[in-house]
Amino acid sequence: MGTVPFAMEGEDMSDRVRVPSLPECDIHKYELNTTGVTAHYDGKTVKGPWAYMCEGCFTSHGIGLGTGRGQRLYVEGEDMNDKTVRVLIVYPDLPAETKDITAKLKTFQEIVGGYIEGVSPVRGTVRWHAYCNEEGKLQGLPINRIATNIAVAAGWTTTDLLVGPVVFLGDVESDDEEDEGGEADVPQELVDLLDVEHVQYRVEILATNEINWATNQRRFDTIAEAETHARDLYSRWMLVEKASVVPESTPYRQPYVAGEREEVKL
Ligand SMILES: [Zn+2]
Repeated sequence: MGTVPFAMEGEDMSDRVRVPSLPECDIHKYELNTTGVTAHYDGKTVKGPWAYMCEGCFTSHGIGLGTGRGQRLYVEGEDMNDKTVRVLIVYPDLPAETKDITAKLKTFQEIVGGYIEGVSPVRGTVRWHAYCNEEGKLQGLPINRIATNIAVAAGWTTTDLLVGPVVFLGDVESDDEEDEGGEADVPQELVDLLDVEHVQYRVEILATNEINWATNQRRFDTIAEAETHARDLYSRWMLVEKASVVPESTPYRQPYVAGEREEVKL
């Protein structure tokens, strides 16, 4: 069936269209042999034919929006100011899932179970961001090791650990300032990191009269093991004032800043 333009007062409808449900991305399906990637555009491709395209494929294969060029797809009943995006949700205690959700504050709050706090990478080639529960640590939510591993592997450089459910999304890369910084489908590269070798951890200690964190050669598979090692160091070495467990990617000899790191209770 064809798509039926749905006019709204005062809006140019040449770049958007209503559909009963979002189709699959044709480029992913036929050119990349990946099924199940949600399309958000119906548009002409640089090669000529029209195709349903996901956010990423529309950026790389589409020729833009407008009559004869392309339309953004909206599910019937969906507010056109809302947008459906594919996200990766990683839970501390359940299998991770990819899901199409409405990119709305309320939806993100429901997933993380409270106010959201944003996380984004400072290095790396893939653009993404994630939301976790702002008060997760206060609420005592469990540490989310898989989400922490994914974030660290994808360029998040911090000594913090994510807790509770974490939802990963892509960034909108656009010349249009209104779209810039918005929610886009989670990059496949991030989903692939679910299978990545897990991050190792090390103990850093702050010794009496020192201003930088110091470490040793020991590496641990789990935070719990690292914490045990930290307490062991503390019990044997008088000079240990504070201890912290950090992912292996953390730069060495960082200056101590009060309250910056989650410290091990010694
Ligand atoms: Zn695609």
